[in-house]
Amino acid sequence: MPKPTKTDLTKYRKLLEEQLAILKGDVGSMRDEALRASEQDSSVDHLADQGTDNYDQSFMLSLIENEEETIQLIEEALDRVDGNGEWPFGACSMCLEKAEAGEMKKADVWIPKERLQYITWARYCVQHQAEVERRESA
Ligand SMILES: [Zn+2]
Repeated sequence: MPKPTKTDLTKYRKLLEEQLAILKGDVGSMRDEALRASEQDSSVDHLADQGTDNYDQSFMLSLIENEEETIQLIEEALDRVDGNGEWPFGACSMCLEKAEAGEMKKADVWIPKERLQYITWARYCVQHQAEVERRESA
């Protein structure tokens, strides 16, 4: 996979900014809804109803948590596009480490375009993403 060109970077920057705007909008309205649900909780006397509300609320909050994590990832990716990140945009940070250790070619550290198109904020290639997730859930 080739390194992203300047034109690619401009395109990814635009994508990231759009995704960030959408997510930030979503988090705002989802948080409002979760808060409204919790206000309703205090006025509900039926335990059964309360149970459902609590379930909905924690489900909502977990979504918000994930969105905030994604927002963080997007903001980091934007830094990488601007050259202010910890590594160049479009590279897998674990492949980079391997390349630095001489375990793989520097030319192979770039995440495929098909993946970046879909997950613009990706920090890893598909293989390393799976490895990281396995490690985190272990
Ligand atoms: Zn990798």
